[in-house]
Amino acid sequence: MSFKNSQGKKIEILVSIDDGHQLDMQMAGLLLKYKIPAVFYIAPDFSDLVKRQILKIAGFGSCDFCKKSKGLFEIGAHTLNHPPDLKLLSDKEAMKEIGGSKIRLEKMMGYKKKVTRFCYPKGKFDERIKGIVKDAGFKEARTVGYLNIEFPKDPYRTDPTIHIHPDKKEFKGKTWMEWGYVLFDQVIKEGGRFELWGHSEEVERYNMWEFLDEFLWYMNSEMKKINYPRKI
Ligand SMILES: [Zn+2]
Repeated sequence: MSFKNSQGKKIEILVSIDDGHQLDMQMAGLLLKYKIPAVFYIAPDFSDLVKRQILKIAGFGSCDFCKKSKGLFEIGAHTLNHPPDLKLLSDKEAMKEIGGSKIRLEKMMGYKKKVTRFCYPKGKFDERIKGIVKDAGFKEARTVGYLNIEFPKDPYRTDPTIHIHPDKKEFKGKTWMEWGYVLFDQVIKEGGRFELWGHSEEVERYNMWEFLDEFLWYMNSEMKKINYPRKI
């Protein structure tokens, strides 16, 4: 959710985690530790999370984690099978992948929560795919854009800010954390939208858990100073 700071600047801060890996449970624990709002984009037939784990992230149930994380996390859809390029699918196939993932995840959650956010696998989309996402009933769709802190002009093209990744050409020789601190501070000060995104599997593969912990600690401490609401 977006919020206005004491100077009336509009701010939105969130994390999004793609695909639905077993390590998303560890990720959810870390995000809960610092109370950072997050969306977990899941492709049900590609993900290795089981229903029980997805329900736990979504905040269903009476476990301690579920109670503490209520309202902090949301489940988003990421197609059924994570096709490498949605643009290459026929209308029928794309509708099945896109609309099917929404229906599947909503069914899994006992129709108690609507899935309104979609994320294009590998950020690949065009006008046709955007239309299918809209027709399927999604309210917004995330891409894999880089270093963006503007609010989206088109809700079906929501560009995030920082990919938690050790080596991306878009970072022009800097690390994701260096960019992260600069752009996060800018959003806190001047307003804007900061979305940190990545994959739990990559955080593990590139040994980034400690760095991520440090960065989320910083986000939390700055969010506290402006009384940022801990709700997705
Ligand atoms: Zn993905």
